[in-house]
Amino acid sequence: MARVFLSLGSNIADRAATISQAVSLLSMSDKINIIKTSSFYETEPWANKNQGWFVNAAIAIDTDFSAMELLKYCQSVEAELGRIRKQGEKWGERTLDIDILMYDDKIISNGSILTIPHPLMHLRAFVLVPMLEVKPDLVHPVFNKTISELYDELYNPEDVFLYGTILPKKE
Ligand code: ADP
Ligand code: MG
Repeated sequence: MARVFLSLGSNIADRAATISQAVSLLSMSDKINIIKTSSFYETEPWANKNQGWFVNAAIAIDTDFSAMELLKYCQSVEAELGRIRKQGEKWGERTLDIDILMYDDKIISNGSILTIPHPLMHLRAFVLVPMLEVKPDLVHPVFNKTISELYDELYNPEDVFLYGTILPKKE
């Protein structure tokens, strides 16, 4: 059994409903137990600004899946909830993105297929802010820093608001 942290994001269609459905689909696997779910956050697109804001959340799970099996399972949940990957597009809009942030304190580098800890997690407020709620004292095994420390060190973080606390933008 491994303790794993996932980041979920959506910026198309009913974003919050998609994240909720993703959490319940994940919980339906008999190899996954949901331990903790963060609040939902409304977040500014991180790299490619030419798209709508995301809803993001982070969850802690216990799982009997290996890291690769879990990646496959997460991708099946993404597919089930209608994610369409545009070819060649990086960091583009998506109905659902599930990233594996950490898998116990394992360090995995399997080419571009699977890198754990997620190689950008320490740079992203949209990951670190939800993780502050889930496990602020979690230690990143590469940098040997906690989530709180990584968050404090963010340079010019993107905007992250608790979901429901900002007014929708006018069309
Ligand atoms: P991004 O999450 O960077 O916006 P994608 O979700 O399209 O982009 O992911 C692209 C690829 O990233 C996936 O095909 C997957 O194999 C790979 N990948 C590498 N490491 C991880 C990880 N820790 N979690 C999820 N996907 C990963
Ligand atoms: Mg992803």
